[in-house]
Amino acid sequence: MSPRILNAASFAALALFLTGCGSAQNGTPTAAPNSQSAVHDDNDKAGQKANIAQLSDEDRPLAEAQGYCAVTAEPLGSMGPPLKLVVNEQPVFVCCKGCEKKAKSNPDKTLAKVEELKAKVKSESHN
Ligand SMILES: [Zn+2]
Repeated sequence: MSPRILNAASFAALALFLTGCGSAQNGTPTAAPNSQSAVHDDNDKAGQKANIAQLSDEDRPLAEAQGYCAVTAEPLGSMGPPLKLVVNEQPVFVCCKGCEKKAKSNPDKTLAKVEELKAKVKSESHN
């Protein structure tokens, strides 16, 4: 009687081990960092455009007009979809969450930077 119980127990343990192992593997995303659709590619203009394209119809032209992060001056979209802030009732775009605090901590400087960036984008588009 006892060997039979032992077998049943070890079978149950084996089944548990197998299913546990299988589900752990299924639940681990290994090679799909793009599933969040944030394209991280520093020198990829297409990736930046794809990230900017995720903005609303209202925000997209604003982000394109600004072109660069108001804090780091990195191209918008290079770190994922640009983040829209409102600084002194003006729309301002930054490259990532980390820039939001900096942009808001000095609104005047941020808005001056935005004007600078817009002028830069305008002059670039004339070439
Ligand atoms: Zn940033």
